[in-house]
Amino acid sequence: MQEITILSGKGGTGKTTITAAIASIAKNAVFCDNDVDAADLHLILEPNILKENSFDSGSKAIIDIEKCTNCDICIDHCRFDSIHYDKSDNIYVNPFECEGCRLCERVCPADAISMIRSLNNYEYVSETRFGYMVHAKMGAGEENSGRLVTSIRNKSKEIAKENNLDFIINDGPPGIGCPVISSVTGTNKVLLVIEPTKSGFHDIKRLIELLESFKVKTYALINKFDINTEISTEVEEFLKTLNIPLLAKIPFDTTIVEAMINKQTISEFAPNSEISKMMKDVWSVLSSSN
Ligand code: SF4
Ligand code: SF4
Repeated sequence: MQEITILSGKGGTGKTTITAAIASIAKNAVFCDNDVDAADLHLILEPNILKENSFDSGSKAIIDIEKCTNCDICIDHCRFDSIHYDKSDNIYVNPFECEGCRLCERVCPADAISMIRSLNNYEYVSETRFGYMVHAKMGAGEENSGRLVTSIRNKSKEIAKENNLDFIINDGPPGIGCPVISSVTGTNKVLLVIEPTKSGFHDIKRLIELLESFKVKTYALINKFDINTEISTEVEEFLKTLNIPLLAKIPFDTTIVEAMINKQTISEFAPNSEISKMMKDVWSVLSSSN
């Protein structure tokens, strides 16, 4: 079984469009939306949910104001500045700021603080017209997206094993933070979707730097290469110096937008288009055993 993670370094590069196109070409695959903070693969794959589980993302402190003596010891100890007084002078913990470290619970002399589990994140196993999909929804203000990514990747592996599937395709999160690290750890291959803009080039350099420590086989494609051919050429030269194979230079094409409006991938909407052919070639390299 091979796990392939598609990353972009920043949002808005067309990564999910590319992932969806690959999803419609790949056979024997399970698709996993690792971009749990802003999941959007479901918009094209239109999953039919088979199983839903809440995900335990940690604890938050709450204060029993009946027991509280307003000594303020917890406020002095909270390193995350999460405990405040409201307009009625009642003490409270802001759940969006609380990191669940439990220190306040330990130092409270009145036993007024307890911890509640936060079960506001959800994991889903779904079926789509291309196969199984594992995805997630994070509740407002919830954290621990890195743990959630690890959890849904593990679920994808289980499904791939149970169903004898050959591939797991991860639609990775943007940036270089904790969810990206969770998305890349242990993956077999990475495909970088690069946008030829100054910020796109800058962010992909940071991402490549991060990937160096993972020693993962890395490929790239430039999306909408013709919106800035000068930067596209710079990106190409840069990739050459690092021996990162450039698998495709996808032109800007309104057919992709039309496909999205019709909730289809480019390979479904225009199967004989030049871009669909390019995507087949990309998948042919990614899916090879090397
Ligand atoms: S659990 Fe930690 S972060 Fe949350 S309010 Fe208590 S001391 Fe602050
Ligand atoms: S430490 Fe306990 S008693 Fe003191 S202010 Fe905080 S919650 Fe109230």
